[in-house]
Amino acid sequence: MTDCIFCKMVSGEMKPDIVYENEQLLAFRDINPQAPVHILIIPKAHISTLNDLKDTSLAGRLLQAVIKVAAQEGLADDGYRTVINCNEQGGQDVYHLHLHVLGRRQMRWPPG
Ligand code: 5GP
Ligand code: ZN
Repeated sequence: MTDCIFCKMVSGEMKPDIVYENEQLLAFRDINPQAPVHILIIPKAHISTLNDLKDTSLAGRLLQAVIKVAAQEGLADDGYRTVINCNEQGGQDVYHLHLHVLGRRQMRWPPG
C-alpha cells in the first residue's frame, strides 16, 4: 500500500531504527516511546487490523518475535507488556497491524 507508513518501512522508503527482521516481519523502535523500551513488530505484508489476521502461522511468528525482541532487549525476566490496538475504540492510529512491546518500567492495570 503506497500511502501506508509501515509499508514504507518495509520497502525501505522510510528508515526506522530496526531491531529485528526476518522474511515475514520487521521490528523497530516506536518514534514516540511510551516506555524506556517501546518496539513495534509488524508483518511485512499489509494487514490492516488484527481482525484481518487470518494466517495462523504468521500470528505465531509475530508472537515468537515478541519473545525474541523482549529477550534481546533484556526485558524477559523483569517483564514487559504486549499490546495490539484494534480499530477506533482500541485506539489504533496506524492501520497496518502492529504489536507494541513496552518495557523497563512498571506497567499498570487497567490500561487507559
Ligand atoms: P497505534 O496507536 O496504531 O497502536 O500505534 C501506532 C504507533 O506507531 C504509535 O505508538 C506511534 O508512535 C508509532 N508511529 C507512528 N508513526 C511512526 C513513524 O513514522 N515511525 C515510528 N518508528 N513509529 C511511528
Ligand atoms: Zn501497510
